[in-house]
Order: sequence, then structure tokens, then C-alpha cells
Amino acid sequence: MSPESHPHRRFSRRSILRAGSVAAGFAALGGPTALASIALAGEVIINPFAGYPTSDGWWDHINRGSLGGIDYVMGVGTPLRACASGQLLINWNNGTGGYTATVVMANGMRSQYLHLSGFNGGERMVRQGEIVGYSGGAAGAPGSGSSTGPHLHWHMVTSGGTRVNPLDYVGVSSGGIGGGLPLEDRRLGHLGTAGGWVHMLSDLVLPGNTTYGAFSPGAGQSPRAMANVDGVMRLVYGGSNGWTTMSSGLAMAPGAPLTVLRTPASPSAQVFTLEGGRLWHTFDGNGWRKLPSSVTVSGNCTFSMTANGTDVHGLFNDNGRLFHVWADGSGWHKGDTGVNLEPGADLVAVIQPGGSLQGLSLEYGRVHHIFGANGRWNRIPTTAALPTGTPIAGRAGNGWPQLVANHNGAITHVWGTSSGWMCVPTGRTTNPGRRISLVEDVASAPLVGLTL
Ligand SMILES: [Zn+2]
Repeated sequence: MSPESHPHRRFSRRSILRAGSVAAGFAALGGPTALASIALAGEVIINPFAGYPTSDGWWDHINRGSLGGIDYVMGVGTPLRACASGQLLINWNNGTGGYTATVVMANGMRSQYLHLSGFNGGERMVRQGEIVGYSGGAAGAPGSGSSTGPHLHWHMVTSGGTRVNPLDYVGVSSGGIGGGLPLEDRRLGHLGTAGGWVHMLSDLVLPGNTTYGAFSPGAGQSPRAMANVDGVMRLVYGGSNGWTTMSSGLAMAPGAPLTVLRTPASPSAQVFTLEGGRLWHTFDGNGWRKLPSSVTVSGNCTFSMTANGTDVHGLFNDNGRLFHVWADGSGWHKGDTGVNLEPGADLVAVIQPGGSLQGLSLEYGRVHHIFGANGRWNRIPTTAALPTGTPIAGRAGNGWPQLVANHNGAITHVWGTSSGWMCVPTGRTTNPGRRISLVEDVASAPLVGLTL
């Protein structure tokens, strides 16, 4: 391929963040749902071709019957950089458009480059500024389509299918977070659905010895997390300058497992940790406070907490025995359910829309459904198979609880239906072992969470 000739080969972090406060959001861009309501900070759409002359502007296209676009004059083989991070789609047969590279942004917008002479690699998640293909357009050349001379044609398509002028969107949020930065393992990731599954990595790196849980600070707001970072509990949140953390000032046992939830009684998160064989409760009440509960556990305990109104409930796999733990006006309780499960197996607890406490565990290579019926607890194997130890996160669903799992790097959605359990890769991939945490929200809301 031709040598790098791009006049804007690097995009400084400053330029990326400059318009970071443009909280256009998905709703303003017509995004369907989902990540829609989340005001994501960070990446804004750039014009990678600002240094090239145009031969045909937006209205020139319209006036001659085209649906619209901008034509930039450049020699065949010029590297074409992505205007935003997103999913790269490759089309070898786009009719008059010829070879076409499409980047689907987190907000559902599509950026399309037409008449290419070739692509740079295959379909994948690309970073803003990454080379996705090479310009073409020479008459009659493979990929040129109807083009009669070397140039790049650029346009965008909204999530609703309307072709729009890309220059109207330069500086607007792409819906992604931390674009233009290298993909690394310890970056906080943002997971959710917006006309399809989206997984975008932020620019916030957290140390390897971090445990965390996501929560929603309120309807329609960006997810946040409480994290045990090297033994200090920190709030993790996104703002106009990207993602950052703030110390609560509270010490925790380094690596202690935790679950995070929010009840209607408080806008801040409640954090539950297992430390020193005991369940601890951390919350913000005129400053952060951390109190021991009366619940003691063995050294081999996994657990998950959830909220039912202002009451909190948990399911605990305490060395192979399932316990129901809850707090109400009279204090903490730990009830033996009489159910055995695989020692060490992970599980999630959710309050279903009807108000019942249910759970999913991942044991013996299979998802099990935990629920109460006829005055006793049940644990029923489902048809959903995943290797034991696969990172899982749960949330309430209509009919049955749901899981999102990191199945050896394939982000996989697990849910129950009246005709069986589904276990379907979302098409999004990540590093194997990254933990997923979903925010608790009403079951009808789209799935939103964080990965680390
Ligand atoms: Zn054109």
C-alpha cells in the first residue's frame, strides 16, 4: 500500500476531549433505545479528511440526484482513517458505491466511505483514527463502482436510516468512550445495547487487583461503579473529561469480592463485601460508612445481592450450600435454603418484576435456575451450557432472570424462554477473564453494564 500521506496522522487527546462535553446523546441523534439515554462522555466524531480539497460538496450531490455526500480529492491508495470508534463492516459489492467501509458507532450512526481500492484488515472493532481502508475511485478500477476519477466519497446514515452530511456531526459525541486510545486489558469497558450490542473501552485503566460492581445513579444516567482498587473503595464515574475515580476514603481488604446495588432510598450506591469471614455493608450517609453485619460466612463463599424496594436480599453459595441472606427493619438474617450447589460456583441474585427473589448459578458447566415455589427453594439445571468459572453478570428479565457472560472472550447473552434457554453470542468480543457487571434496572430497560 502507499506510504502514509495523511496530513492529520495523529489526533491528540486534547482534540478528542475538546468537544467531549457535547452531550448530544443518542436520543438527539435518533438512537433507538438503550445506551440511548446514557450521556456518554469522551469520544466525539472527527473529520479525518479536513486537509483535503473537496470536488463535490453535500448540495452538489443533492442537486445532481445523489442522496448526498462529500467528495474529497486524493490519490488512489490514500489511507482512510475512521472518524469514530465502532464496528467496522466491509462491503465488497455496494453497487455504484463500490467497495464500501462502514463504521457503526456506539450511538447507532453509520459512517460510510465509498469507492475504495481496498480494505485494511477485516471486520472488527476499530478505534477512532485507525486505518480502515484505502481510497480508490479510478474509472473502471475494482471497487470504484460508478466513480469516474480518484476521490473519496463520505457520508453518514442515522440509526433511523437517513443519509446525512457528516460535517454536521463533526464534534458530536459518537456514543463511544475514550476513542483513539489503545485497547488494553485493564481498561474499563462500557457494555450495552443500542440497536445491537455495543462494547466500548474507556481510557480509564484500573489496576489488576480491582473488584467492582456497576450501578445506575438514576434512570437514564450513565452507569457508575464502586470499585475496590488496591484496598481502597472508589467511586468510578464518567464525566465530560472522560472516566475517573474518586476515593471514598474507606479501606477494604484488597481483592475482597463485592456486589453493588442501589435502593430507591438513596441516590448513592450500597456496597456489600465479604471480609474476614463476615458480610460488610458500606453506604453513603453523611459521608461514607462501613458497618459489619451479623452474617458470617466460610472462606469459600460467593454471593450476590439485590434490592427489593428498600430491603436487600442476597443469595450466598457458602461452601456448597445455598443461603438466603436479607436485611429488613429487624436486622440481618441468614436462612438455610436446604439446597446444595457446586462449592465455589458463582451465582447472581435478582428481584424479578413480580417481586420474587430468584437466581442463576453456573455449576457443573451449566446455568441453573434458583427460585422459590410451593414453600421451598429449587435449583433446576437449564439447557444453557457454559464452562464453570465463566464470568457472569445477572439482571432481572421478563419471565426469567438473564445473564451476560464472558465466554472465553465472546460476550454472550443467556436468557430463558417458554421453549428453552438461549445462550447466544452477542457478536462482541473482549479479553477472556474480564468481569462483567450489569446495572440493576427495570426489566424492560435495555441491558447496560461495565466490563473490567
Ligand atoms: Zn460522492
